Amino acid sequence: VFSVILIVFIIVAIKLSSSMSKKAMIPIQQTFRQQQQFLADASHELRTPLSIMNTSLDVIELENGETITPYSKEVVSDMKEEIGRMSRMVQHLLLLARSDIGSDEFEMSTFDIVPKLRGWVQAFEGVAQKKAITLRTMLPKTLTVKGDPERLKQLVYILLDNAIKYTPEGGKVDVGLDPNPRQWRIIVRDSGIGIAEADQPRIFDRFYRVEKHRSREEGSAGLGLAIAKQIAIAHRASVVLESEPGKGSTFSVEFPV
Ligand code: ADP
Repeated sequence: VFSVILIVFIIVAIKLSSSMSKKAMIPIQQTFRQQQQFLADASHELRTPLSIMNTSLDVIELENGETITPYSKEVVSDMKEEIGRMSRMVQHLLLLARSDIGSDEFEMSTFDIVPKLRGWVQAFEGVAQKKAITLRTMLPKTLTVKGDPERLKQLVYILLDNAIKYTPEGGKVDVGLDPNPRQWRIIVRDSGIGIAEADQPRIFDRFYRVEKHRSREEGSAGLGLAIAKQIAIAHRASVVLESEPGKGSTFSVEFPV
């Protein structure tokens, strides 16, 4: 009888504690969701005034044509640059908040990534040329993969943008595609400034920038790699980083087949 009472007691205790922990978790999850929803809504709402401000500045530039003083011209151009920076940040925040909530669903399809990747890299030729950076691709003839092409484009854009941004003039950036049947990979390698070992685990954190001052000058907010990581996770992929300060960095995104 004693052992039966003991067993019943244990079962009741387990049930009670699990129901209590459930009750305790719901408000936390709800609060987190509400917070993410707030962030998503706020960033969404901020986009409109920003684009209105940008258009207004275009109008000022147009209306004043030749009469605009060099000083005012500079002020307008600085303001447009800041608005552009803010818009990118807001867009990134919106994207992160949406993927936290899970409402931003990925549209997975099966497609040949080779022509797409070639096009994505081509989009950076102008920026690379401006810095005299040699931008090369090493791609197989064809590679059929499963994923969301728009989001993969975004991921490649983030990695390429960084590779060019953090590579001094005259450097090299290579984009490769490894069609390994067990695990295909997108590889972005640069001969840039590199990342110290201590910073490597942190660069995927939101708002983390290695050299705050320099990154700010480059117009960055430290959100790019956090988004790249989210996109990789949604594809069950992982981002592997190899880097040496002064020599360069290699980001490989490894996708399971
Ligand atoms: P940011 O918008 O600042 O570039 P990211 O999240 O994309 O934000 O990157 C975070 C930080 O990681 C950057 O500020 C930079 O210090 C470092 N980083 C990213 N990519 C590279 C790279 N290819 N070479 C050197 N440093 C890099």
